[in-house]
Parts: sequence; C-alpha cells; structure tokens
Amino acid sequence: MSESLPSYLAGRWQHGNGKGTALFDPVLGDELARVDATGLDLAEGFAFAREQGGAALRALTYRERASLLGAIVQVLQQHRDAYYEIATANSGTVKRDSAVDIDGAIFTLGSYAKLGETLGDRRYLLDGEAARLGKDPLFQSQHVLVPTRGVALCINAFNFPSWGLWEKAAPALLSGVPVIVKPATSTAWLTHRMVRDVLEAGILPPGALSIVCGSADGLLDALEPFDVVSFTGSAQTAAQIRTHPAIAQRSVRVNIEADSVNSALLLPREAGGNDALPLLASEVVREMTVKSGQKCTAIRRVLVPESLYDAAAEAIVAKLREVTVGNPRNPDVRMGALVSRAQLATVREGLAQLQAQTQTLHDGASQALIDADPAVACCIGPTLLGTRDPDGNALVHQIEVFGPVATLMSYRERQGEDSIDAGHAFELARRGEGSLVASLYGSDPAALATAALQLADSHGRVHVISPDVAQLHTGHGNVMPQSLHGGPGRAGGGEELGGLRALNFYHRRSAVQASTAVLDRL
Ligand code: NAP
Repeated sequence: MSESLPSYLAGRWQHGNGKGTALFDPVLGDELARVDATGLDLAEGFAFAREQGGAALRALTYRERASLLGAIVQVLQQHRDAYYEIATANSGTVKRDSAVDIDGAIFTLGSYAKLGETLGDRRYLLDGEAARLGKDPLFQSQHVLVPTRGVALCINAFNFPSWGLWEKAAPALLSGVPVIVKPATSTAWLTHRMVRDVLEAGILPPGALSIVCGSADGLLDALEPFDVVSFTGSAQTAAQIRTHPAIAQRSVRVNIEADSVNSALLLPREAGGNDALPLLASEVVREMTVKSGQKCTAIRRVLVPESLYDAAAEAIVAKLREVTVGNPRNPDVRMGALVSRAQLATVREGLAQLQAQTQTLHDGASQALIDADPAVACCIGPTLLGTRDPDGNALVHQIEVFGPVATLMSYRERQGEDSIDAGHAFELARRGEGSLVASLYGSDPAALATAALQLADSHGRVHVISPDVAQLHTGHGNVMPQSLHGGPGRAGGGEELGGLRALNFYHRRSAVQASTAVLDRL
C-alpha cells in the first residue's frame, strides 16, 4: 500500500482511522498516496489554531508577519524541484503548467511579503479618516480594521494545489489569522508536502498553519462565528457550503470562488490583416491548453464579429494542430493530462452536450497520445467548437467544460450613426451570468476602454490586449496578486487578492466613536 499522508492539527501529525482515498498518477495510473481524515478531532484542531495560532500571530506586527511570508518563500524555493516532481506525478502537468501553480504561488507569497512591509509596525489598520458625528468636532467616528479572532478555513480545488494554498494563506497570515487548509483530495500531495516543509522549517508559531488531508466531512461543523471560510471549487459544493448551518445561522463569513464561462472578445473593425486577430488566436490556444484547460479563468467562449468568424476559426485551428498531447515526462509533449479518469469522463460528457448545439471545428478528442496509454491516461486533445447562432444555443453560455475545450461564436456588428458597436457581443458575454475574466482584443484605445467598462459589472477582471502590450501583458488566465480575483453571480460572488484589498476579508471593521483625544491614540 502507498504512503498515507497525515493531517496536521492541534500541533501534531495525525492519521485518520479509516481506509482512506487513493491519489493517482493521471498518466500512468499508479497509486501514489492515500489520505484519510476519518475520526480526527476537528474541534480540538480548530480550537488550537484559534487560540494558540491566533494569539501568536496577532502579537506580531504586519512587518513581522510579512517577514514570515518571506521566510516561507525561501523554504519553498529550496524544495522547488521536489514540487515539480510531485506535480508531474499527481497532476500530470508539463513543466510549464506546473510553473503556473508552483512559481505562481511563490510569486504571490513574495508579493504579499513586500506589501506587508509597507504596513509597518502596526497590529491593526485605520480605515479612512475620522468623521465628525455632530456639530462639535470633538466627538468623532474612526473606523478600524482588526484581525478576526478565528481561523481561516481554506478549501481548495484540485487544479491549484500550490497556488490555491498560498494565494489564500498569504493574506490570511499577513492579517494575523491562522490557516487550516483542506486541499482537494485528488491532488493533496503537493499541498501536504509544502505544508510539511514549512512546518519543519519552524517558521510559523504553533497553530498558525494546519492541514486536513481527506474528506471534508464535519469540517464546517467545527466553525465558530469569528472564523472565515475561503472556498474554491464547483458551484455545487459552493451551494452546500452556503446552506450549512455554520454559514446560514452562525454568520461565518464565506468567500466563494466558483466556476465561470469566461470569454474573449475581438472588437469590431479589427480586419483580418491587423494584429488583434492573431493576438486573440494565440491567447485562446494558450488558455485552452495550459493545464489542459483546467483553469477557472480559462477562455471558454470566443466572441468575434461575424465577418471574421472564418478567419478566427482558421487562425485558432492552425495553432491547435500543433499541440502534442500525452505523457508530460516526454519533452515532445506540450499538453499533459486531466487530473483523473472521473474528470476525463466529465469533460467528455460536457463536450458531447455542447456538440449537440455546435459544429466541431477542431476535434482533439480522438487525437493520438504520445507515450501514454489511452486506456489508462487521463489525456484528451484540445477541441474547438463553433456556432454562428449563439443567441439560439443557450448551452454554450452555461456549460463550463473543465478541460481543453472552447467555443467560437459570431456576434452581429451594429451600425450606429457614426460607429459600429459591439453591443451584441457584450450581451452574449453577460449570458455567462457573471464571470471571473473577459479579455478584449483591439487596437482602438477609446473603443477598448468603453468595452472594458461595459463588461466590468459582470466580470471580476477585464484583460485588455492591444498591439502595444502584445509582449508585455500578463495573460488572460494568469491571476496576478495585484489584481482582483473573483467574479459576480455564477463565478461565486467572491473577491480574492487585489493587493492589500485581500486583507479586508480577514479583518473585522469596527467604528470607534470617541473624543478626538482617544482617537488620536489609535
Ligand atoms: P469541488 O468538487 O467543488 O471541490 C472543491 C473542494 O471542496 C475540495 O477540496 C473538496 O474536497 C471540497 N469539498 C467537497 N465537498 C465539500 C463539502 N460538502 N463541504 C466543504 N468542502 C467540500 O471542486 P473541484 O472539482 O476540486 O474543482 C473544480 C471546480 O473548481 C471547477 O468548476 C472550477 O471552475 C472551480 N475553480 C474555481 C476557481 C476560482 O478561483 N474561481 C479556481 C479553481 C477551480 P474533496 O476533494 O475531498 O472532495
């Protein structure tokens, strides 16, 4: 039997008393490890984190906590090679895709270490200026932000076992709030290894970082009113969390990052010969293939003016033909595996549903694999679908196929008095009912700015690609710590990152009403 990955709760490593669940290599099919949280005393573990970890972290200043993040960065750098090996084995990703998860996490932690330093030697934050409450200026109201006296339960999706951990843990720890991480079972190994390395390095005070490896059963029951939950995963699990008594009755604060049918939009008047169309084609192919399309931010819908539908299809398909798929250990392979056979089956099912309403422009489902047995490996080539009737085919706006699949669709350019507008394209983008990100492609700054504002209410991030930033931009799907990550509606309604904005979630805001002499001492 393979190694069992223990949980770390109440300051000690603990094994569950059940049979556990196996983690597999999605290319070779080998069992790699097991996780099991059956019978763990979660209430004890949460209380230890809340009391010991919370008190120790709150005793430190922001600058001191920032230096802890810096020390974590160094530990992770030391063990980077091991993390890449685990990612290849357990996530089936090529090196470039593992980097998004591993180096993306280290970069995010490093960014919060730097941001934290700017907050200095304080233990709480002032929020805005004092406001006069009456005629006499002596009695005023000052808002303060203080770290919540609970734990941050961070529940992650399978596709980012490293970045998902640290993009949540960095702002929580910087805020002075202890973290209990629950990785998705199928890829828990990398999260486990990173947590183990950081704990062994003795950087953090006892109780500041804990991990539950295994099922989520009973986790939410251990929550108390000042705890917070930061969740990333499917809309279905999100709905269960929202209706759990801890959230519904104890008002535990919850942030949800769920699924999303993101779009890429080529603005009107971008004729085939100019730069915007090739930029769109490159980005679509990158988004379809990085991590085999298992990215919550990946482009799922590609909106182009009807006059450019054929040209766009041709440009994207030409690039997809070059994508090699199979065993990530083979240097000729550009795209590795999906995470599991279950995920492969779900992708095939979603693809079939979309194919009922679209035309298949490039079929990757039957593509030959390199160095991988199709009966075992969870690999599938990229597929581009297309429809010239996105109004009538509702499923293309509803189904998130969490794999290398996107749908090209045409929109009608509307001729106004002195301009052509993309109103129809904006309507189509909004049919995703709230997404994490939309990207815009064009060369007219004024039209791009107008379009960005049109989409801002239904998208957490609008990524604008014009020829002048072709070599500079950070990528449609890359989540940068400086920018907001999250989206309204279907995307979960959450907000993460966005620089120091992320700290709001882990702090409580309170208005202190007092004489100016008191407020001056805050
Ligand atoms: P999932 O099945 O919803 O699982 C997410 C996490 O929730 C896992 O750790 C899972 O543990 C845990 N969980 C399951 N049932 C739970 C419950 N009743 N209470 C509390 N936690 C529970 O999602 P997934 O399949 O891992 O991830 C794929 C989905 O995540 C996609 O839809 C994708 O769009 C979305 N996603 C969103 C973002 C974003 O930032 N918006 C990022 C990445 C992924 P087990 O694994 O042990 O079941």
